[in-house]
Amino acid sequence: MNTFYVTTPIYYANSLPHLGHLYTMIVGDTIARAKRQRAIETYFLTGTDEHGINIERAAEKAGRTPKEQSDYVVSYYKKMTSEFSLDTEHGGYDIFMRTTEPFHYEGVSELWRRISKSKTPKGNDAIYKGHYEGWFCAACAEYKTEDEYQKPKNEGDPPTCLIHDTPLDRVSEESYFFRLSDYDEALLSVLESRPDFVRPESRRNEVVSFVRGGLQDLSVSRLKTSVSWGVPVPGDPAHTMYVWFDALTNYITAIGFGNEERQKAVGFEKFWPAMHLVGKDILRFHAVYWPSFLLAAGIELPRAIVAHGMWLDPNGRKMSKTLGNTIELDVLQKHFSIDSIRYFCLREMVFGQDGRFGYEALIDRANSDLASGWGNLSSRTLTMIARYCDSRIPSGLIPEDKLLLAKRTGVDTDETTVAGFIEHARDQFVQHFEKLAFSKALETAWSVVARVDKMITDAKPWDLAKDENQKQTLGVVLYRASETLRWLSVMLYPVMPEASRAIWKQLGLDGSPAQVDPTQLKWGELKEGATIGEVQPVFPRLDKTKIMAEINSGTAETTVPSAVAPGPSEPSAPVVHATQADAVGVTSFIEIDDFAKVDLRVGQVLSAERVPKADKLLLLKIDVGEEQPRQILAGIAQYYEPEKLIGRKVVIVANLNPRKLRGFESQGMVVAASYGEEGRPVIATFTEDVPNGARLK
Ligand SMILES: [Zn+2]
Repeated sequence: MNTFYVTTPIYYANSLPHLGHLYTMIVGDTIARAKRQRAIETYFLTGTDEHGINIERAAEKAGRTPKEQSDYVVSYYKKMTSEFSLDTEHGGYDIFMRTTEPFHYEGVSELWRRISKSKTPKGNDAIYKGHYEGWFCAACAEYKTEDEYQKPKNEGDPPTCLIHDTPLDRVSEESYFFRLSDYDEALLSVLESRPDFVRPESRRNEVVSFVRGGLQDLSVSRLKTSVSWGVPVPGDPAHTMYVWFDALTNYITAIGFGNEERQKAVGFEKFWPAMHLVGKDILRFHAVYWPSFLLAAGIELPRAIVAHGMWLDPNGRKMSKTLGNTIELDVLQKHFSIDSIRYFCLREMVFGQDGRFGYEALIDRANSDLASGWGNLSSRTLTMIARYCDSRIPSGLIPEDKLLLAKRTGVDTDETTVAGFIEHARDQFVQHFEKLAFSKALETAWSVVARVDKMITDAKPWDLAKDENQKQTLGVVLYRASETLRWLSVMLYPVMPEASRAIWKQLGLDGSPAQVDPTQLKWGELKEGATIGEVQPVFPRLDKTKIMAEINSGTAETTVPSAVAPGPSEPSAPVVHATQADAVGVTSFIEIDDFAKVDLRVGQVLSAERVPKADKLLLLKIDVGEEQPRQILAGIAQYYEPEKLIGRKVVIVANLNPRKLRGFESQGMVVAASYGEEGRPVIATFTEDVPNGARLK
């Protein structure tokens, strides 16, 4: 049975999609891609729950039929899934499930019939007719549950409607009930015998104590006179099935339960049971009601119910329109690549816990982990293969007679050292992924990026390239780096499909990382002599100042590369660029020889820390391709977080007389633009890869 079925919740079609919906879909999509990559036949469901009084009412307001109202909301979901490459066309979901589908009516009716014929574990009828009694708001025309009304100030008074602020009426109507109270022991025994049934453990414990607290029977129908927009109860059309019975059942009707057509197209026996991804706010329905329905119908229980946390704003507050701290999907779409959003979501939220989401944090992650991390490793490796190896993958082996020579450069001549490290990291990565510990998995992958980056920096290929005798040593370093890129493309494909495919192609490989099982990767299978593809940066660096100004002004234009001046029809964003602010005022000219006196070099920041009692100064250690890194002081502490500079490429004046500042010798100067009245510094950097020590001319 090599199949897998994963679902997001189906979203209630009374509001437009937001970050929470996007997030669960990204998680589902990532899981589905990872399974497919391992040749497991996978079915991925997302969709909408389209029945009920709220939709009926919204439709009435908009002058539409309820179905037209649902279609309208669904069109926004379809737009989102297409824009974020989550639809079938982009290799994402297999079905966008809608509870208004005729096959769903068939399937959910079949489930009702089965359950109404069955007995509970305690020998009672599983469905019975009774009276639903509750607090009813006449203006809303609906019953209010405890969290939907305001409790009265004086005991004995009725509660009031949160919307209308009017007292509620105690009303009773005929309703079918599901005898949930008879399923407590059966549920507890499942929760005990299957510790992974509800994940994470903290959520499982919540469910256990909820069930131990005793279960109330569940009203599963409403009179058609109060709610007509829904599935009629089989054999009693005066009743409409109520909410959860209808909605939860979509997970089985979508794959063919109770209807021929879907059974042929997908196959219930083939794919059930599913792994359900849910937000913690709907855990109870999935972990208590749903398994009870299935037990009653004699259907196998889900594989697992996995609850994820919520996104909070950068200050840890709940996101809400009133606070104005929501993340807007169109802003994400306009300014960020899909892969960077996927990466951020999976890296930043420890799965199961709440996470924090902010545009600035997203830019920082994209720049530090993607542009300067994986992206930089990729472009520097491939650029050097293009330059030093005639665009061909070099040999990964050092011939016997060159071993001693290679050893002298400090390069590890034993290839199993790096191979072993990466194999171990891959195993850990796969294990974390299996446990849905995406954040940990990505941390592990980034330990590989850091390790191989350091291998390159230590080996200094640009120096090796100067010595014909070290050609093989140089080749070995670049082979190891490019073979690492191949592995990373496969490992990271489920998280960042587009970037992985791009790097795969730049390595000159055939096929797609989507078809390679990460557990089957073997070190050394990258073929020597193969020609690499065209080298292009996969993750361009994001201009934080510019993007944040655009987001904050709300007048974000379509992306104009920052080097291109906006045309007359495009209003420029209200941000002062160093180039615009200080481009005037060049007063005298120099000869080229004067310029040649200044030795400008490329360096890379190895460490950065604040200088005690000097609030403007940072103490930097910069690798400029020399034996020892330079120690340089820079007056940028008010504008740059030290830890964010690490790994960054900078330009330094290398032949400046050393001088002492605050007791530290500064061996050069970091070049920066300066603008505004305060002389705000902006460090000069490169968008393409360039080796440390390269001279600027
Ligand atoms: Zn009301």
